[in-house]
Amino acid sequence: MQFNHLMLDVIKWRKEIHQHPELAFQEHKTSNKVATLLREFGVDEVIEGIGETGVVGVIKNGDGPSIGLRADMDALPMQELGESQHKSQNQGCMHACGHDGHTAMLLGAAKYLSEHRSFNGTVYCVFQPAEEGYAGAQKMIDDGLFERFQMDAIYGLHNWPGLPAGDIAVNEGAIMASVDTFEISVEGKGCHAAMPHLGVDPIVYASELVLELQTIVSRRLSPLESAVVSVTTFHSGDAFNVIPEVASLTGCVRCLAPETRVRVEALIKEYMDSVNTAGKGVTAKLTYHKGYPVTKNHKEHAHIVYQNALSLVGENKVHLNLDPSMASEDFSFMLQACPGAYFWLGVDKAGEETVSLHNPYYDFNDDVIETGIRFWCSLVENRLLKRD
Ligand SMILES: [Zn+2]
Ligand SMILES: [Zn+2]
Repeated sequence: MQFNHLMLDVIKWRKEIHQHPELAFQEHKTSNKVATLLREFGVDEVIEGIGETGVVGVIKNGDGPSIGLRADMDALPMQELGESQHKSQNQGCMHACGHDGHTAMLLGAAKYLSEHRSFNGTVYCVFQPAEEGYAGAQKMIDDGLFERFQMDAIYGLHNWPGLPAGDIAVNEGAIMASVDTFEISVEGKGCHAAMPHLGVDPIVYASELVLELQTIVSRRLSPLESAVVSVTTFHSGDAFNVIPEVASLTGCVRCLAPETRVRVEALIKEYMDSVNTAGKGVTAKLTYHKGYPVTKNHKEHAHIVYQNALSLVGENKVHLNLDPSMASEDFSFMLQACPGAYFWLGVDKAGEETVSLHNPYYDFNDDVIETGIRFWCSLVENRLLKRD
């Protein structure tokens, strides 16, 4: 592969995208840039507006199998604190999750594949919006992603701090957790703080509930199951001498197995019911929102990623079945709808401190762009083998 010129272009696109970050479903300039470039590359078909701001580029070369490659395009609502020349020009918005790198790498692969046609089959380059909490992947699926573009498998990657630059890690099963959120209101009876016996104090009963929720993981699940139940906000009251009417809590639940996820939701409901039937005089209400499912790889496709990584970067830089992350990812929806796998591409620079994703100083490491593009291209060439 001749990559030198391509690399310069891709790094330039990456920095331009970094400089002009856009939030979920507002990626108009980014998706326009993606679509314009795909057309310049001579991609056979470019379809815009799938899942609002999503774009699919189709590269067809013969009647072989089909494959989907996915990149996410959205940024985060936070202020960049780094001072690079390509720092965000949009106040309060930045690419702190490296989606600028994902988009640029997939563009690079699309350019190479479109120009070289070194495969037999169809490649779908899927540029999705709104990964950060707004389920852009699901939106594309609702818009018929997998009916309109019938792919045998789909693959997605995430840049990964904590792994050396260019390392590749994949799991045979769960790699990222599910995430659900909840809101709880505990209603009591307000009164003078000097006469608590005349009211029902929601703060005391909500506090009990916070502690009880901690027993879900510690006492009710098997020690071999993985889950997190966190109460992350607790609001009540306005004055030191008033017992308030209501205490409001919010929090989140993360699990590594779909069965655990179902069980934790049921246990939270059970705890709520017990508050309501305990004769304490408080009413507890729960609103439970299902977020992203567990990102669970299909084993066969995890091995395809693993083998491709081995041939590309060698045994010392490939990891199988590292501990999964308790963060979540909406590529999980795509893996529920289509076989495939999701993997991590390490970004840590040797001798430098790791900067975590979603940190205000995060800046995608351009040194791994070549590995990312080579991975996509070799995956396509190996799966969609050209018969000469
Ligand atoms: Zn993120
Ligand atoms: Zn991300």
